[in-house]
Amino acid sequence: MLLKACNSFCDTVDIMSNINALQENRMIHTNDHKTGYLFDQLDHLGPKRRKLMEKSWAGLFREHVLCELPVNEMIPFFTADFGRPTKELYTVLGVLIIQQMQDLTDEQTIYQLAFNEQWHYALDIKGKSDEAAYMSPKTLWNMRKIATDNGLDRLLFEHVTDALAKAFSVDASRQRIDSVHIRSNMRRLGRIRIFAETIHKFLNNLRRHQKDLYGAISQELQDRYMPKEALSCFSMVKPSDSHNTLDIVSADLLELVQCFCGNSHVAAMHSYKLMSRVLSEQCELIEGEVTSRRAKDIPSDSLQNPSDPDATYDGHKGQGYQVQVMETYGDSADGKAKPETLNLITHVAVETACKGDTHALIPAVESAGERNLAPDELLADSHYGSDDNCRAARERGTEVIAPAMGPRVSQIVTLSDFTFTDEGRVIACPRGHAPAQTKHKKTRHTAAFNKELCSHCPLLKDCPVKEGKAHYYLRYDDKAQRLARRRAFEKSDAFRDRYRFRAGIEATMSELDRRTGIKRLRVRGFDAVRFSATLKVIGVNIFRATAVRIARGGSRATAQSLSRGISLVCSFLKEQIYAWWRLFLNPKPCPLQVATF
Ligand code: SF4
Repeated sequence: MLLKACNSFCDTVDIMSNINALQENRMIHTNDHKTGYLFDQLDHLGPKRRKLMEKSWAGLFREHVLCELPVNEMIPFFTADFGRPTKELYTVLGVLIIQQMQDLTDEQTIYQLAFNEQWHYALDIKGKSDEAAYMSPKTLWNMRKIATDNGLDRLLFEHVTDALAKAFSVDASRQRIDSVHIRSNMRRLGRIRIFAETIHKFLNNLRRHQKDLYGAISQELQDRYMPKEALSCFSMVKPSDSHNTLDIVSADLLELVQCFCGNSHVAAMHSYKLMSRVLSEQCELIEGEVTSRRAKDIPSDSLQNPSDPDATYDGHKGQGYQVQVMETYGDSADGKAKPETLNLITHVAVETACKGDTHALIPAVESAGERNLAPDELLADSHYGSDDNCRAARERGTEVIAPAMGPRVSQIVTLSDFTFTDEGRVIACPRGHAPAQTKHKKTRHTAAFNKELCSHCPLLKDCPVKEGKAHYYLRYDDKAQRLARRRAFEKSDAFRDRYRFRAGIEATMSELDRRTGIKRLRVRGFDAVRFSATLKVIGVNIFRATAVRIARGGSRATAQSLSRGISLVCSFLKEQIYAWWRLFLNPKPCPLQVATF
C-alpha cells in the first residue's frame, strides 16, 4: 500500500513538473533530469536486477549522458506558442542515440521505448503514461529529420564524448587515427545498370508528373526501361555483349536528355539532372556520336546508384562512404590497468568514399584540440603521414608517427644513410667521409665529395651522388632530407615500439561494425549516413565506458544508496511531524504515541 501510495505521489509530482515546464515554455517540453528523487524508482526490482540495471549501459547513460544532451539546440526548431507540445526533448535525443547504438529499425525503437524498462531507466522516463513512453513513427521520423538536417549529430557527439572524457579522466595524449569504409542502403550496380536505373527513374517520374510528355516517348523505349522484368535483363548481359549494350543505353540516354533539354519543367526534375550527370560522367560526345568512356576514365565521384546520388567510389573498397575515426589508447602492460582505461573515440567525420585520407588528419587534430582533447602523439598509416601533414600537426603541438609516404627507394644507399646536422646539413657520407664543400640556397642544398675517394668507393654504384667536373655531388632539398630522416627512424626499434599500437584501431573498426552495424547502414544520402554513423560511434563510446565503469567497480549504486538514505530520513521526519501534529490537535497523549517518541 505504502509503495503504491509513493508511486502515485511520484506520478503526481511528475505530472506537476511537466505542467510547470509546459506553462513556462508553453509547447517546448523538457524535464529536469538533474534533480534526484525523494523515492527510489527501482524499488520494485529485487537487489540483483537492480544491480544489473545500474551496471548496464542504461545506468551509464542515465548518469553521464542524459543530462549532457544538447536539447537547447533543438528548441529553435519548434514554435513556443503554437501547435502541439513537443515530446520530452531529452527523451527524443536519447532515443535517437540508442536506436543507432543498438542498430534498430523505427518499429523496433518504438516498441523498446514503450515497453523496455532498461530504456525507461536510461531515459529517466517517469510514470507510465503514453505521453512519457510512446512516440509515433511519424514523430520519430520528424525528430530525426530535424536533427539530421541541422547537423545535431556533431553536437551530440561532442557533448557526450566530452562528458565521458571528463567523467573517466581520459588521457588524450596518445591517439591513433584510421578510416573505415561503409555502405548505405543501396544496391551495387554495374555500369549498364546505372544507365538503365537512371532512365527508369526518369521515365517513372515523367509518367507521374508529365503524362502527356511521357506519352510522346516511343513505345520501344518505354518497353525497354519501364517494366521491372525488362530492367532485370540488363543485369544478365553477357560480358561479350556488354560493349554493344552500353552503346545502346548511352544512345537512349542521349536521346532523352536532348529531347527534354528545352523544357524547363522537365529539366528541373531531379531525375533529369541525374541523367545529365550520368551522360557527362560516363559518355563522350564526338561529332554528335555518343560513345561510352573507358572504365579507367570515369571519375571516382561519379554516380554509383540513382537511389543514392551522394555515394562515390573507392578503387580499393568499392562504392559508398568512409568514416574517419580517432581514438585514445593506453600503452600500459599492466593487466589490471588495461580494462580500467577508457579508449575513447574523440573524433569522427563521415566523408564520401572517393576522398583520400591525407586531408583528414589536420581537421581531426583541430576538432579534438577545440575540446581540449588534442593528442601529443598521433599514430597513423602512411596515407595520413605526408610531410605537409606532419609539419602542420607539429605546429599544433601534435607529433605524427607514421611511415613516410611515397615510393620505397630501391637503392642500397639512400639519403637517410648520410649523417646530417640538426639544421639539415650533411656532415658525413655512409663511408664516414666529410664533404669537401657544401652550398645552401634557401631550401636546396649541395654537398661535394672528393672525386678521388668516391671513384674508388665500393658503394659508388648505389650511392645517390652524381659525378661532376671537380667533385661527386649530392643534391637534396629540405623535404627530401626530412623524409630521409623519417625513413631512417622507421628502421629503428624506437619507431617499432611506438608504432605497434596503431594496429589496435582495426579492432575498433570491427567493434563498430559488430556492435552497431556501421558498415551496412539502413539509410541513403550523405546527411542521413553522416547522422547514423556518428551516433553509432557515440554508441561504441557508451559501450566502452560501461565496461570500464564495471571494471573500476563504480556505479550509481553509491548515489542510489545515498538517495535511499535521504529518503529514509525524510520518511522518519514525516512520521515525527505527523505525530507532533496529532499531539497538537489532541493534547492528551495516548500511551502508543508516547511510546513512539
Ligand atoms: S661514393 Fe663517395 S659519397 Fe658515396 S659513400 Fe662512397 S665515398 Fe661516400
